[in-house]
Amino acid sequence: MTTTKHALQIVIDDVGWFTGHDESKQNRPFRTGVNRKHVLQDYIAIAELGKRLGVRPVIAMVIGDWDRDNILKDITGATWDGDKWDNRENIKQYQTQLESIIDFLNNNQDYFEISMHGLQHEYWTNGMMTRSQYFDHNKYREGNGKFMRPYDIVNSHVDAFFKILDRNGVKAKVRTIVPPNFNYECGENGNAGDMSKILKNYGLEYVNTPFSMLQGAPDSTLHYEEAGLTFIDRGPDDIRWNATNIWPTKDVHRPTFGLHWANILGANHADNLGVVDKWVAFFQGQVAKGNITLAKDIKECAEQLMQA
Ligand SMILES: [Zn+2]
Repeated sequence: MTTTKHALQIVIDDVGWFTGHDESKQNRPFRTGVNRKHVLQDYIAIAELGKRLGVRPVIAMVIGDWDRDNILKDITGATWDGDKWDNRENIKQYQTQLESIIDFLNNNQDYFEISMHGLQHEYWTNGMMTRSQYFDHNKYREGNGKFMRPYDIVNSHVDAFFKILDRNGVKAKVRTIVPPNFNYECGENGNAGDMSKILKNYGLEYVNTPFSMLQGAPDSTLHYEEAGLTFIDRGPDDIRWNATNIWPTKDVHRPTFGLHWANILGANHADNLGVVDKWVAFFQGQVAKGNITLAKDIKECAEQLMQA
């Protein structure tokens, strides 16, 4: 049994969708799997978790729904509609929520850290969805490396992420990426280093993903450096991505606790804060048991990991 007490970073994936409906069977995104619209109260739940624990959870954002100028119609693979992409009605329907969410995000960043996940999470070729946005999971399965999407296309996706944040007036220093579906390739083979170089150019510093999915990383380590980025092992998630009204019960000894937005929410948003209570009690219990400390933010998590 490990005796290392990690400074644990909480990482929450898939934040930002306007609605949670899973349309993956229709060649559209999985989203959060929550069968309702996402509302301001779902962001308040995140901030409440951070505030009560005194930490900044990383929120890995999916920002394609926020495209006000239809810039994604010119980005290869970004949506199921290709160059027919028209997001105006989606924005119009969500406008009131969106304005209050942006305001909330800009005014509560002591309690979470806006981070990168992607645009619509997956990649589309002639309307057909494949996993995932930056890396081709089918090629990853073949195990020969070289499964990054073309460099220029990936670069345009990363660029669009920042353009959409800017266009919406979201102020954030984005330091961390959680790659969608956890796909990432590094090391000496294949397209090694290309993704890291792109991210470094956009100011990113950290990659958080399970190292079991990180092709090219050395075995038996919890952190790794490439192209000026620090990779932090997320380990396995304990809770299913789309489960609501749920909280962990298993002891944790990892440097990262990865979860998905749905997990800290209620199926009904009125239940959110009751669910957050349970999460707060869980993490406080883990600290009291001496299993972990809580990293204030991703930087503290990385620094403690590198000293251990
Ligand atoms: Zn995700």
